Amino acid sequence: MLKIPREQFDGIRAHGEAEYPQECCGVLIGKLSGGDRLVKEYIRCRNGQTLTPDRRYSIPAEELIAAQKRAREQDMDIVGFYHSHPDHPPQWSSHDLEEAHWFACSYVITSVEKGRAAETKSYVLCGNDEETKRFDGEEIEVLAEVGA
Ligand SMILES: [Zn+2]
Repeated sequence: MLKIPREQFDGIRAHGEAEYPQECCGVLIGKLSGGDRLVKEYIRCRNGQTLTPDRRYSIPAEELIAAQKRAREQDMDIVGFYHSHPDHPPQWSSHDLEEAHWFACSYVITSVEKGRAAETKSYVLCGNDEETKRFDGEEIEVLAEVGA
């Protein structure tokens, strides 16, 4: 399961709206607890796809390295990634699977319809290697704000 505070959940969805009609992308950092991924923070990244940014995304290597460093500094890990699907359902594509390399991480997709964030879904990258990898759907639990 992916556990994400309301503020972060709304933030990644707003990022999808801001980048519409292009895909947004970013990194989720936090903690692993049991089999769950608990998000503490999200980092907006630039979509490195210059030819078809409306249909694909890639996180630039230097931004991924910076996100790793930020996570380490706070004694956290990269627990997932997110991107948006402008005017498409939040279903992963074969390209999304090809480009996914972080096993046991969450891959969150938000559908953005006509500029408005619609459904958000999450998938865990499962399998043992590049040959057997697959996405399994997972539940998203949006956590209420602390103190609210
Ligand atoms: Zn996608």
